[in-house]
Amino acid sequence: MAKKKFYITTSIAYTNASPHCGFALEIIQADVLARYHRILDEEVFFLTGTDEHGAKIAKAAEAAGKSPKQFTDEISAKFRSLKQALSLSNDDFIRTTDQEKHWPTARKVWTELQKDIYKKKYEGLYCVGCEAFITNKDLKDGKCIMHQKEPEMIKEENYFFKLSKYENEIQEAIETDKLKIIPQVRKNEMLSFIKKGLKDISFSRQRKDLQWGIPVPDDEDQTIYVWADALTNYLSALGYAQESDKFKKFWPADVHCVGKDILRFHAIIWPGILLSLGLPLPKSILVHGFIGVNNQKMSKSLGNVIDPFELVDKYGTDAVRYFLLREIPTTADGDFTYEKFEKRYNGDLAAGLGNLTARILTMAEKKGIKTMSPEKEFSKETDKTWEDYYQAIQDFKFSEALIAVWDLIGYCDRYIEKQQPWKSEGKELEKILSNLLFALADIAKMLKPFLPETSEKILQQMGTKEKLNIKRGELLFPKL
Ligand SMILES: [Zn+2]
Repeated sequence: MAKKKFYITTSIAYTNASPHCGFALEIIQADVLARYHRILDEEVFFLTGTDEHGAKIAKAAEAAGKSPKQFTDEISAKFRSLKQALSLSNDDFIRTTDQEKHWPTARKVWTELQKDIYKKKYEGLYCVGCEAFITNKDLKDGKCIMHQKEPEMIKEENYFFKLSKYENEIQEAIETDKLKIIPQVRKNEMLSFIKKGLKDISFSRQRKDLQWGIPVPDDEDQTIYVWADALTNYLSALGYAQESDKFKKFWPADVHCVGKDILRFHAIIWPGILLSLGLPLPKSILVHGFIGVNNQKMSKSLGNVIDPFELVDKYGTDAVRYFLLREIPTTADGDFTYEKFEKRYNGDLAAGLGNLTARILTMAEKKGIKTMSPEKEFSKETDKTWEDYYQAIQDFKFSEALIAVWDLIGYCDRYIEKQQPWKSEGKELEKILSNLLFALADIAKMLKPFLPETSEKILQQMGTKEKLNIKRGELLFPKL
């Protein structure tokens, strides 16, 4: 029988600046799901990439004294290197400037949307930060609330997409969870937005004002609007324009991971495009919040942007993955401080997981334990942990899955204190260690999608499950 498929994407990162921790959070969350579904023996396609067109990037390049091409090449390469730094398992990396892989699909989609595209003279406020036309309700004191910038008044003739036509269908898909938005609060937000009525949206800009983008097919005076270009990456990476087998196999996406600031584009415009194309809608959108620093917004102007590469250099990949997955709730806002980070590191990783692993393996290696067969009480505990763990991942609550694992670590610690194996010997000691090894192997297996390197290190030190071959290695997480 053919394997079940699982297609997961991150949003493609906007290349106006280097990666920060917010995107690291998104891509690590997606990586957990990709790895988890591979463990379930599904055929997984995990996509990420970079969104490289638009006025904001053209301006950032100019400010840096570089051509847009040179500028986006450099920043895109940094995003690509997150794979190594964060142990990501993405199968592909798409760039919207890729004229062979991406452009044919973006242009094909444009052509296929013709029945819903019309030209109209338009006057409106455009926020370069949002890369979108905004209205008075997005403003405070004349500035975009999200970007604290005054929008530009733009008066031009553009192409429009008949988004309004799909209002009812989009609403129904979200209401019935055919397109499931997680969490519920974001779903409600989208529904109340739709209920105010959807307007048609500008789908192109005049080429003379915006050259850094994909030209509209059959109208070289116009550039495809950056979102109408970027959203199609989810199709272009599968080879939609080439009608590839990959596309037939993997579309629709099972999960799009996005930040709350760009949900409207994914929950409303994207389904509108897909409905017009006659393609199935993605099954779900997982929406994460923002990471603050000391409860302040992370921003370049405040100079408090946390660089994921620096964190990895200082603490190691799995420590960074652990902090982001454990401390930041999957779908809500969270807060970063070095204090919190080091507390999690020293407490949960060094004194918790690392210490337990070292204790068990030291004793088991010394005693030469060759089998692990748990007693009933012990397998009851691990079974319960597995149940909570599966449920938490099913509900996209990654921190709760980790809490379940750490509860089991705590259970083992208490068991050691109670049994005092250093005072036991013979069969009694064998029984105690056999129980502990069984739990440790389960802990390592549960950590596989979350802390892949650490999981591998533990299992390697244990040898194989059938025939243990314990060789204690270096400490997993030396205390800071
Ligand atoms: Zn804005």
